[in-house]
Amino acid sequence: MGKRQPPHILLIPFPAQGHIIPFLDLSRHLALQNLSLTIVVTPSNLPLLSPLLSKSPSIQTLSLPFPSSPHLPPGVENSKDLPPSSFGLFIHALSSLHSPLLSWITSQTQTQNPVSAIVSDFFLGWTQPLAEEVGIPRFAFSSSAVLGTAVLHSLLHRLPQRLDATDDSYPISFPGIPGSPIYLWRQLTFLYRSYREGDPVSEAVRQNFLWNFESLGFVSNTFKALEGIYLEHPLEDLGFRKIWAVGPLTPINGGTSRGGVMSVSASQVMTWLDRFDEGSVVYISFGSQAVLPSVQATVLATALEKSGLHFVWAMRDSTTLPEGFEERIAKRGMIIKGWAPQVAILSHHSVGWFLTHCGWNSVLEALTAGIVMLTWPMASDQFVNARFLVEVAGLAFPLWEGSSEVPHEDELANILKEAVTLKGTEVRSRAKEMGRKVAEGVSEGGSSYQELEGFVQELLKLEVNV
Ligand code: UDP
Repeated sequence: MGKRQPPHILLIPFPAQGHIIPFLDLSRHLALQNLSLTIVVTPSNLPLLSPLLSKSPSIQTLSLPFPSSPHLPPGVENSKDLPPSSFGLFIHALSSLHSPLLSWITSQTQTQNPVSAIVSDFFLGWTQPLAEEVGIPRFAFSSSAVLGTAVLHSLLHRLPQRLDATDDSYPISFPGIPGSPIYLWRQLTFLYRSYREGDPVSEAVRQNFLWNFESLGFVSNTFKALEGIYLEHPLEDLGFRKIWAVGPLTPINGGTSRGGVMSVSASQVMTWLDRFDEGSVVYISFGSQAVLPSVQATVLATALEKSGLHFVWAMRDSTTLPEGFEERIAKRGMIIKGWAPQVAILSHHSVGWFLTHCGWNSVLEALTAGIVMLTWPMASDQFVNARFLVEVAGLAFPLWEGSSEVPHEDELANILKEAVTLKGTEVRSRAKEMGRKVAEGVSEGGSSYQELEGFVQELLKLEVNV
C-alpha cells in the first residue's frame, strides 16, 4: 500500500512588486492547508519573500539564477529596474527558466515529494507547456483585474487588429467583453502596442500569454462585488476555463516589512496624519514602477500648493520637485521618498482620497480602506482600471492620464479641489460601502473566502500515493 502524501505545489511568482505582493499572500493562504509548497525565486528577489517565509516557514524555496540575456542590463532581476520598453525582453528572458525547472521537477519524480501542480503568474505563460511536458496541471495567477486580464488576452488573441497606429486616439473595441468597451490606442498596454509581427521577442511574448488559455483556470485578485459583471459573463467568451475570484489579496504585514528604504518611519507618518480631520488628506502614489517625469512632478507639486489641500506624497527617490517646495508645504504636506507604508496610510482615518496611477494592488487597497480614488493612469492595465473605476463602478474621479502630456497647474489644482471639496459625497458613500463589501467577502462564508476554499479543494484533490 502506498503512503498518502499532501500534494506538492510549485509556486512561481513574476518578479515585479505588483505581482509578487498578492502572490505571496495567496501562498500564505495555501500554506495554511495540507499542501507541500515550493516557491521559485531568483537570488536578488529572495529578500522579497521574507515576509512570507517568516509567516510560513514550511514553504521551501528553489533559487535559480536569473537567465542571462544580452538585451538586459546585467544584474537586473526585477522589472522595477527596467523601463516599460524592456518589459517584453524581461518576460522573454525568464522563459529560459524552463530548462532548469524541467530538470528540477523531473528530479523530484522519484522522491517522496513529486510535484503535483504548478501555480504561476500569468506573465509566465511558458510554464504551461512545462507543466504539460511533465504531465501535471497548471493554474495561472492574475494580479490584475478580470477586465484588465481579459483585455490583454483578447488583444493578443485577436491580433492583428491595429498594430501600426500612428494616431494615438485610434479606437479599439472589445465586443466580447460586457459593456463593449472601446479604448484608445494610447490606453492599451505597451506589451500589445510594441508587438511586431514576425519579431521573435514579440511572437514569444504573445505566445507566452496565449498559453494561459490552456491552464485549468485563473486565480484572480479580484472579488465578486466589484467585478461580478465580468465574472458572470460566459467565461468561454473571454477564453478562460475558470476564474477563482479570491481577492483582495493584501501585502503581508501591511507591506511595511518589505525591506525598502523609507525616508520617514511608519509611526512618524501616522503621528503626522493624526493632526488632520477625518477624511481630509489626499494620499498620492504612482506605485512601485512609474516615475513621474519631472515636468509632471513640477505641475502636480504646484497644483497641490495652489489647492491648499492636505496631502502625503509617496514618491520614488528619483522624482524631482520644485526648489523649496518641501519647506513651503511642510505644515500641510508630507513627502515620503522611497518605500511608503501604503496600506497603513490608506487605513488612517484622516486619509479620504487617493491620487493613484491605478495599479491594481493600489486600487484594491483603496477599496479595502473605503477611500475614493483620483485617477492618473500611466501605463499597462492602469488605463483600463481607471476607466472601470470611474465609468462602471463609480468609485473614482478622473484627474489626468499618461506620462507625456502636461496638465496646466491651475486646471489640475481646480480638479483636485473640486473633487475633494464639492463632488465627493456620493462617490464617498459608494466607496465606504465597497469597503464593507470587501470585509464581508473575505470573512468566513463570504464570496472570496468561498472561492479560495474552492481553489484549495482543487489542489487538495491532487493528493498523491507514493
Ligand atoms: N507600495 C508600497 N509603498 C510604496 C509604493 C508601493 O507599499 O511606496 C505597494 C502598494 O501598497 C501596492 C504595490 O506596492 O501593494 C504597488 O502595486 P500596484 O499594483 O498598485 O502598482 P505597480 O507598482 O505594480 O505599478
